[in-house]
Amino acid sequence: MEQTNIPHVLFLPFPVQGHIRPMMKLAELLNQAGSQVTFINTDHNHNRLMSNADLKTSSFHDRSPKFLFRSIPVENAPSLLNIKELLDTLQIVARPAFRQLLISIISDQCRPTCIIADGIMSFVAIDVAEELGIPVITFRTISASCTWTYFHLSKLVETGDAPIPDGNLDKSITCIPGYENVLRSRDLPGFCRVEKPENSFLKFFMRETSAMTRASALILNTVHEIEAPVISRLNSIFTKIYTIGPVHALYKSRISQSDSSNGAGLWKEDRSCMTWLNCQPLRSVIYVSFGSLVCLTRDQVLEFWHGLVNSGKPFLWVVRPDLIVGESGIDPMELEMVTKERGFIVSWAPQEEVLAHPAVGGFLTHSGWNSTLESINAGVPMICWPELADQQVNSRCVSEVWKIGFDMKDTCDRSTVEKLVRDLMDSNKREEIMKSTDEFARLAADSVKEGGSSYTNLEKLIKDIRSMSP
Ligand code: UDP
Repeated sequence: MEQTNIPHVLFLPFPVQGHIRPMMKLAELLNQAGSQVTFINTDHNHNRLMSNADLKTSSFHDRSPKFLFRSIPVENAPSLLNIKELLDTLQIVARPAFRQLLISIISDQCRPTCIIADGIMSFVAIDVAEELGIPVITFRTISASCTWTYFHLSKLVETGDAPIPDGNLDKSITCIPGYENVLRSRDLPGFCRVEKPENSFLKFFMRETSAMTRASALILNTVHEIEAPVISRLNSIFTKIYTIGPVHALYKSRISQSDSSNGAGLWKEDRSCMTWLNCQPLRSVIYVSFGSLVCLTRDQVLEFWHGLVNSGKPFLWVVRPDLIVGESGIDPMELEMVTKERGFIVSWAPQEEVLAHPAVGGFLTHSGWNSTLESINAGVPMICWPELADQQVNSRCVSEVWKIGFDMKDTCDRSTVEKLVRDLMDSNKREEIMKSTDEFARLAADSVKEGGSSYTNLEKLIKDIRSMSP
């Protein structure tokens, strides 16, 4: 291939759904704006993405400039049980595989202008990029609030707050500027709870967060107006920050349906729930999803299920095939049989569309950042039940800082679930929460309009990448 002055951007996401999806949306936006894109997946995820009918039939192959998929050979499994295994494998094989791939791309006369690397793939990308003289921009797919918290992990270790000692989850955390009156131990990232000093996740996130600073700029999938104070704190670390969220809304406003990858999901969506939603009254349904990685025990599933049924509200629940761990004894189909009157169960939903549906009035979520932003964008208030990584910080911000939902972290007994669903769906507490929820939806919508902060930042990013081209 001939070397041209068309920018060539190489994307390297961490290989799980919540990272691939926002990075893919940005990749398509840059492609539409005239950059060639190479999007790198692991073999395993590449095959899953390609088996998605939308990707196969979309116009990817005919695009100009080109949008190419490449993959590196990393065997992995998608469930939480294997995240550690995935990380261990990645740490051994991903860097040499990535280096080899990059060298072959360069020798094809197609040297990347820059690499947009996931904020937790620095261990794969940064050394290799520096060796080969290619600039790196880091894309952290979590909130600015949580990114800032991660930048204080070493401080938390120094003060003895992490790993959390003695299971004291109610201690106030005072060493993170701006969050002194917000965070308790229980609101720290999930991996801080493992008490062992050799906590490998904690060490991994400390290393990766520090390595991010070797990148020339930071991209965040957030709305400037929602996280302005903490973004200005992050400016003390990164002089260039592009906030481009909600990137799915920016994508929707700029990419036509016929040209879109329709979400680039690793699971096949079951659209039957849309027909069911069409038959439900306005704002009556509580949507329940724990994202792509969180798992529940049989007892937790039963508590959620009883709470939902007892609330009397119709619910739509995503029960992934690998959601329930341990000795299960629950067949999701059985749950559905006894739920039919009031609930609907799918294995994977078209979530953005579900949240935008007028029948949906609330979201019981694990507080993954994509889900949180999608809910904010759709103006749907949340009940949060976080389990992993950034989710604990997000849920605290949702309830205590932004006041767009309730945080029920660390408990899911049926009476709490029932009460919070009722409070969220039809009490005067809902009215209060809806004021800020509506305001946040407006901020998100304005940010992706022409002249809005995310729209303008995307334009700046496009221009800055062009200026890196030879
Ligand atoms: N998602 C979806 N259908 C589902 C459940 C989730 O499309 O049934 C999408 C959701 O819209 C979001 C992503 O999967 O974009 C999950 O990302 P998030 O950061 O919320 O959580 P994670 O899966 O990383 O824990």
